[in-house]
Amino acid sequence: MPLFLSILPCMSTIQENITRINAILASADHHVDLVAVSKYQSADKIDQALRAGQRIFGENRVQEAYDHWHTYKNDAQYPDLTLHLIGPLQTNKAGDAVALFDVIETLDREKLAKKLAQEMQKQGRRLPCYIQVNTGEEPQKAGILPAELADFLALCQGEYDLNIVGLMCIPPVSDPPAVHFAFLAKLAKEHGLEKLSMGMSNDFEKALPLGATSVRVGSAIFGARE
Ligand SMILES: *Cc1c(COP(=O)(O)O)cnc(C)c1O
Repeated sequence: MPLFLSILPCMSTIQENITRINAILASADHHVDLVAVSKYQSADKIDQALRAGQRIFGENRVQEAYDHWHTYKNDAQYPDLTLHLIGPLQTNKAGDAVALFDVIETLDREKLAKKLAQEMQKQGRRLPCYIQVNTGEEPQKAGILPAELADFLALCQGEYDLNIVGLMCIPPVSDPPAVHFAFLAKLAKEHGLEKLSMGMSNDFEKALPLGATSVRVGSAIFGARE
């Protein structure tokens, strides 16, 4: 047997991964967006995802996202390309983030809310934002504490006129994720927010019945990060 035939069955391509994951998302009783997390992935793999029709991508650093995406962003071939910032944002990078990204998922403190509001006004780009909630109350993790969410949301909407569309969380690695997904869904409902960004490669299937409206999937699409 030729070598390539013997290797083939154990490799799945990026296109196959995206198709498989989309089929799982389609089994949910509501629409779920697939945010393909392209951080630390090669230009070739990103190109394969684009060729497979994927148009929503997540990145966690502004500079790397710029390197990966600024050419595609200016390419008329991809008018619906949508970039989500899913990593911590320093206030001094807020201007670059507003210019490059379409959705900010990691709004987590007042100083950042203020800076984002200024930059969005200046650039005329009122981007949808998610508030990141530290559902596990982990000291080292970014995010608003659940008890502080109501005040922070009121501040973002009232004082800064930000377009808050939903909540995002990254559960503690040591906990069953479903508990955190259910909690985030409850918080969103209490505060009248529609969108829930929750679920990654290892647990996105558990997030679907709990109301995820988008999942952030990296390694299950692209393989291990380089
Ligand atoms: C890297 C990352 C992901 C994707 O993780 P995978 O386990 O590779 O799917 C999702 N969300 C955030 C916030 C991340 O930083």
